Amino acid sequence: MTLTLDWLGVSTYRLKIDDLVIFLDAYLDRVPGAPPVGLRAAEVDRADYIFVGHSHFDHLWGAETIAHNTGAAVVGSYETIRIMHDEEVPEAQLVCVAGGERIRLSDRVTVRVFPSQHSCIWAKAGKPDEVCLGEMGLSLQERHANLEARPLRRRPSDRPGAAELQAHLQESDQHARGDGGALAYLIETPEGSVLWKDTSGHWTGILRDLRPDVALLAAAGRGNIDGDPIQGSLAQFVAREVDLVRPRRVALCHHDNWMPPFTRETDVEPIRSELARHFPHVEFLEMGYLEDMPVLSRDW
Ligand SMILES: [Zn+2]
Repeated sequence: MTLTLDWLGVSTYRLKIDDLVIFLDAYLDRVPGAPPVGLRAAEVDRADYIFVGHSHFDHLWGAETIAHNTGAAVVGSYETIRIMHDEEVPEAQLVCVAGGERIRLSDRVTVRVFPSQHSCIWAKAGKPDEVCLGEMGLSLQERHANLEARPLRRRPSDRPGAAELQAHLQESDQHARGDGGALAYLIETPEGSVLWKDTSGHWTGILRDLRPDVALLAAAGRGNIDGDPIQGSLAQFVAREVDLVRPRRVALCHHDNWMPPFTRETDVEPIRSELARHFPHVEFLEMGYLEDMPVLSRDW
């Protein structure tokens, strides 16, 4: 069995397991100012499955193009599938999940689905080693009020790239109702397993004890632990996830400069050193775009 992984920016990956081609999220077409990932949604000519972590545009947009062009099945939350239905992806290609399912992709590959949590986009977030405190126990109304005050909702600025960003936000707007409920996926093969999470949040009791060989973990924003923001840094949040699942290898996602001028590239050094301090035996993978990396090779 050969299993290789391409990172395609934000939390999007292409996983090839023998003859199977699996997309994890589908956001390939980014703002002009973001570094190109080397592949556009319209250029994808082979895919069997598209698993979607949640319904925000920087994860879902592009899935409809790939599904139309390849016939791939789209697996996601009921909100993700509602949007794909609106995009006229044929019903036979749509698979709704909510967590708790086990999907067979071939006689050797299955994917388990778990309920998860989105990062706290309504709470203050800092640099990866910046400790953020407070904002525990906010009501839904207070969270919405925080979101309304965020810069993306305000008038476009005159910073370079801001007009392109606004145009991109309009083009990619599929009218998602929030994140649609975040999901985590565990891909299981005879050679080992890969856990993929496309946003920085989790339910502790669900993530604990999964024991994947490889964990692909989102490193962005303020981590969400069981519905409340981490009282700590992003680096500490990633270390906590590694402590829960105990993988042999870790790769980060969602840390690239995916939407300038709103985003910057995240400095992963504080995360790497936090992991090295607590988990020196866990290998930290650094992936560039489209590297076709054999992540489950036995010669570790
Ligand atoms: Zn999101």
